[in-house]
Amino acid sequence: MSLKRSIANKSKSSASAKSKSAVSRLASSLKPHFGKVRIVEVGLRDGLQNESTELSVEQRFQLLKKLIEAGVQNFEIGAFVSPKWVPQMAHTKALVEKFQTSAQARSLTPSVLVPNLVGFESARQNGLKEVAVFISATETFSQKNINCSIAESLVKVQEVVSAARKNKMRVRGYLSVCFGCPFEGAVNESKVVELVGKLLKLGCYEVSIGDTIGIARPGQVISLFSKLKKKFGLEKIAGHFHDTRGQSLANILAAYQLGCRVFDSSIGGLGGCPYAKGATGNVATEDVVYFFEGLGVKTGLNLQKLIEANHWLEPQMNHPLSSKVSKASPS
Ligand SMILES: [Zn+2]
Repeated sequence: MSLKRSIANKSKSSASAKSKSAVSRLASSLKPHFGKVRIVEVGLRDGLQNESTELSVEQRFQLLKKLIEAGVQNFEIGAFVSPKWVPQMAHTKALVEKFQTSAQARSLTPSVLVPNLVGFESARQNGLKEVAVFISATETFSQKNINCSIAESLVKVQEVVSAARKNKMRVRGYLSVCFGCPFEGAVNESKVVELVGKLLKLGCYEVSIGDTIGIARPGQVISLFSKLKKKFGLEKIAGHFHDTRGQSLANILAAYQLGCRVFDSSIGGLGGCPYAKGATGNVATEDVVYFFEGLGVKTGLNLQKLIEANHWLEPQMNHPLSSKVSKASPS
């Protein structure tokens, strides 16, 4: 081969390599948009826990059945906490027992929130395979919410995680008020990163980053999630956004574009925060599903069935539910 031809061939092949790599770059940049996300339904716990209407075990079971019919696979079923403090979560044991006798129980692994070893023991005795624990990103919220310091709550988490490990159970961690605290205001990002690191190191398989008072905006989400990504990657990080100021879907998009693939939501947007004025609750599951469908991202959930669940639930809550998609959809 002549030198000239060889150079020509070389430049041809490097041009085609270049265009190939441009195509693969384009493909990989598009790929996430045809990917999937895991939605964790928190309506039965985080949602109902912060509602003034208390649903009976039967109502909660009916709601759960409708959610499962809509394709919900990852969900919190309740909390093993004192009914004196959280009456909405009373009889979680009876709800778990009812669920376990249902046909779907074999293929689904619900999670239950436990504040300490006593709660964990109830979860274990009831045959659950996953529990959730929580800590706060600020001292004042921790004191007001669970009457102990962050350090003390980490000790409780450690006890639960080691008991869970012995029993081959999984632990999911929640970190509250990551973007703003109703008592302390701004929250230090490096404190959030440090606490996420502690929860992961203790053995939580995933940490959910809570915007408990619905104050975050996308710029803040990009900033915090970029730091989390740099430090831990986002494979074990979930986004937990509230829609108090109408920013939740924009926040989800910001986190999604950085690579976050797990998001918490509650049917109808149930929930709120007792310490935050006007906190309207978690982002609604229906709105999240509608949003991701528009991006071509799979959620595994059936939007129409979620809307039906919302329309069934709303008259029982004594106030309009906040989901925009369900409001706009006929029964
Ligand atoms: Zn929440």
